[in-house]
Amino acid sequence: MKIVKTDRSGYIVECGCNREFQGGRMRLTFECPRCGRAAYAAEIIGDWLLERRSAEVSLTYLRQAASTSV
Ligand SMILES: [Zn+2]
Repeated sequence: MKIVKTDRSGYIVECGCNREFQGGRMRLTFECPRCGRAAYAAEIIGDWLLERRSAEVSLTYLRQAASTSV
């Protein structure tokens, strides 16, 4: 399970069974309405934050590389 995006009411979570569903912000677990799989929200959100952070880091790195190569 992973977060694909966020909106005002919570997170859009994608399950391994290809179903996307909304997980509220204050939920302790995310539960797939299709296959019933559940996961800890904190874990999923942690993965998502890490992924976002590494995306930002590599962007910064690319920008620096571009500016020094000129
Ligand atoms: Zn599922």
